[in-house]
Amino acid sequence: MAIFDCTECGGKVSSEATTCPHCGSPVQAMIKKIAARRQPIRTKTTTRNQGPTKQKHGVLLVLSDVRAWLVLIIIFCFFAWSTNLFGPKSSPRAVAARSPIERQFSAWDGSHIALTKRIKEQLNDPGSYDHGKTVHVEKDGTLNIMVSFRATNGFGALVLQQVIAEASATGDGDDVHILSQK
Ligand SMILES: [Zn+2]
Repeated sequence: MAIFDCTECGGKVSSEATTCPHCGSPVQAMIKKIAARRQPIRTKTTTRNQGPTKQKHGVLLVLSDVRAWLVLIIIFCFFAWSTNLFGPKSSPRAVAARSPIERQFSAWDGSHIALTKRIKEQLNDPGSYDHGKTVHVEKDGTLNIMVSFRATNGFGALVLQQVIAEASATGDGDDVHILSQK
């Protein structure tokens, strides 16, 4: 059931009534009249097509805006993530935060930087130096370092070698000296 305005008198009429309770006009005729009147309205909406498309366009704009924001957020997240990942190692602040002992060692492979230099100096073929593992213990301000590595010996054979060295725990590592080598 629908309530509409009588086309003759403007009073409220039920679509189920046969005549208008105010003026007695036949309701069926009114419904037909109203339906006929809606026709031009419909064509009007088609000529007003710009309306809906504009709305669609607006929605698209908002959508693209949302996408733009998403892309920006993703880029920002990636940036934050990448700086967190690569920042601490390369930033001077992170290097300064490392203890004096840590600074003597390579962040890359854990080798003692000065000791590697010292070992290479006394090798027949410094280019053959292949760092294996470096371990160290600190005792009473002295750093005891043990390095295992591969290098070619005087006969050109690649052999596994081990060096035990000592350095000051508070220095920069340049005072490192080899205690034993086998
Ligand atoms: Zn009426």
